Amino acid sequence: MNELDIQGVGMTSQRTRDRLMKRLQTKGIQNQDVLRIMSLVPRHLFVDEAMSSRSYEDSSFPIGHGQTISQPYIVARMTELLLESDSLENVLEVGTGSAYQAAVLGGLVKNLHTVEVIPELYRQGRDVLYDLGYRNIRTHLGDGSWGWEEAAPYDAIMVTAAPDEIPSALINQLKVGGRMIIPVGAQKSEQILQVLTRTSESNYSVENHESVLFVPLVSGN
Ligand code: SAH
Repeated sequence: MNELDIQGVGMTSQRTRDRLMKRLQTKGIQNQDVLRIMSLVPRHLFVDEAMSSRSYEDSSFPIGHGQTISQPYIVARMTELLLESDSLENVLEVGTGSAYQAAVLGGLVKNLHTVEVIPELYRQGRDVLYDLGYRNIRTHLGDGSWGWEEAAPYDAIMVTAAPDEIPSALINQLKVGGRMIIPVGAQKSEQILQVLTRTSESNYSVENHESVLFVPLVSGN
């Protein structure tokens, strides 16, 4: 990443970002790698220009097409949970959206594949990641409820849209020992952030974390 590109001015300055990092710490984010990377990723470049002065608030924002960029606290929390994986060589994200979460992951994992189903968001995400210099992130257009078979299996999977139930294709594309971070639950009722660990070829365990609110994972099934 080019230092000049990421510095920004005024409301997008390093000081504004550091204030957000303090807020994330107050809310319980402890992983120093997550805080360090999030203080470097220029979130204002992933939101609509009209919103850029507010981009270091701990809020989600609309990104068009009825979709949202996730709240920084949720990005930090999900990233922290993902980093508990044993290996981070090959990671999948489902739901590129603004590509902000992908950029955060791109600074922490070796190779990231990210899948988006809305063509325009896919193109925007691909372009912003390219312009910022990420070369370890591959963006794909498609229905990520089927995962991304070509690059499977994955050490870890992060899903940033909520299905009613965890898609079995995603479980099958996890390595044994791999972890999936995923919000699960029907819209407008409670969704729970879950961590699924594939314990063997035929088994997995699930831990429940906090309640969350994500847009639905659309599915072509
Ligand atoms: N990670 C994103 C969050 C975006 S919101 C960010 O940092 O901004 C969720 C995204 O998931 C939306 O862009 C939506 O279009 C996408 N999505 C929903 N269902 C999907 C599916 N089946 N496959 C791929 N992307 C999907």
